[in-house]
Amino acid sequence: MNLNKHEFIINAKKIYTLDSSNNIYNTMLIEDGKIKELSNHLLPYKHEKISYPDKYIVPGFIDSHTHILGTGLQQVFPEVSSAQSFEEIFDKISAASNIAQEYGFLVVYNFEPDNTKERRYPHRRELDRLIKDYAMLLYRIDGHSGVLNTKGLEQVLETKDKILERGIEYDEHKEPTGILRGKAYEFTARFFNNKFSPELRIQAFEKACGLAIKHGVTTMITMLGTEVDNITCELLLQVQDKLPIEVIPFYQTKDIERVKKLNLSRIGGCILIDGSFGSHTAALIEDYTDEPNNKGVLYLTDQELTNFYQESDANGLQTAVHAIGDRAIEQVVRCFESFLKDNRLRHRIEHCELLNDDLIKRIRDLGLVVCVQPAFENYWGGAGKMYKERLGERWQKTNPLNKLINSGILVAAGSDAPITPIDPLLGISSAVNHPNPEHRISCLYALQMFTKNGAYAICAENRIGILKENYQADFVVLDNDPLENTANKICRVYKKGNQLYF
Ligand SMILES: [Zn+2]
Ligand SMILES: [Zn+2]
Repeated sequence: MNLNKHEFIINAKKIYTLDSSNNIYNTMLIEDGKIKELSNHLLPYKHEKISYPDKYIVPGFIDSHTHILGTGLQQVFPEVSSAQSFEEIFDKISAASNIAQEYGFLVVYNFEPDNTKERRYPHRRELDRLIKDYAMLLYRIDGHSGVLNTKGLEQVLETKDKILERGIEYDEHKEPTGILRGKAYEFTARFFNNKFSPELRIQAFEKACGLAIKHGVTTMITMLGTEVDNITCELLLQVQDKLPIEVIPFYQTKDIERVKKLNLSRIGGCILIDGSFGSHTAALIEDYTDEPNNKGVLYLTDQELTNFYQESDANGLQTAVHAIGDRAIEQVVRCFESFLKDNRLRHRIEHCELLNDDLIKRIRDLGLVVCVQPAFENYWGGAGKMYKERLGERWQKTNPLNKLINSGILVAAGSDAPITPIDPLLGISSAVNHPNPEHRISCLYALQMFTKNGAYAICAENRIGILKENYQADFVVLDNDPLENTANKICRVYKKGNQLYF
């Protein structure tokens, strides 16, 4: 039986096209993966009919900012972000012994000592009781420290790298505890990254796509590769056509030649202009409220950033960079202002969180595209949460979605998965229920950020993002009316007219 119906008529209670007139229909004819006709009448063809009389159809979601490798690896290996005790963490690790056996090593993600009642790191001997025959690394959630078991420590020490002298912690018997920080941690994290075989990386891509489909995502923009990782993006390009959804990469390097050789038209991603609020490294104009005399970090000079932008622009490459604090965003804007006449390539700012009216005007005047993560506000925004602790009253200025949209800036949205889950419905409800009522947007605008604006942000607005004749038949069937209710459920997902299963 062929479950992939290439020619069919589908009807629903409402089909929200999100086209320029926001037309609503109830019937759609699909042929060869494309939309052939939209109507409010019965269509006079003998095609198979699929009927969802009480459901709603919207364009397939576009997650405009993900990290596919990390997202997929967290599906393969355990992650312990929600664990509140060592007992819970140790149970998860013990249950993963078959995974250690399969791959010959184990990594465990998102350990947060402050979430556990023990409020410390485990000693390597405690980990040895769980996994002894395979090297294991437990990553702290912020990606700046970790713990090895003895097997892992032995393997890392075998490399006898002098750099390891810095950052290894010792216990009262002058033996390494397995806890690593700084250079020793960075070396070890790279050492474990090198254990990820091409097959495992491809498996991670597939797992991430599976997760995306479950949440209605039919196109995923992904940031991958680094200055030193020149295999991950290359691997994605090799398997891209075999993945069930479109995965479109930004290569996170400033090496323009490397990207041009791969015939890519996009460069950047989470290239760090600054850090994050959580780690006090996002670059602020005024000090951190909870760390006086600290204004965060800018990682590049104006000269370096302007050179990168100018060269990319001259080579026809669309850029994206990570800028969170107002001082970092100001640097991005200032560097573009120094040369950019016309943003025909749709250069983007990712995150773009702490803003003021002057910055919003300058972003608008330059025509820059902004890619926000509304779910950040759900987790860390509002009174009593982390942004308020770090920024004081400035928490009221983060992610001013309504102002951005009203000023005419093109705003696309993503999850930054695995930082927040690939889940556009969560992103939409986070935008509609922004902790600052002034920054809330309507369900329609929130939906547009995850569909048509996402298409514009990758120059694909003539093909995806809305439902229109001759556009790709990428769409999602929802349980509730998405313009009236942010509590919703994904019922079906179609990519190029094929139903995807989850
Ligand atoms: Zn980022
Ligand atoms: Zn990112």
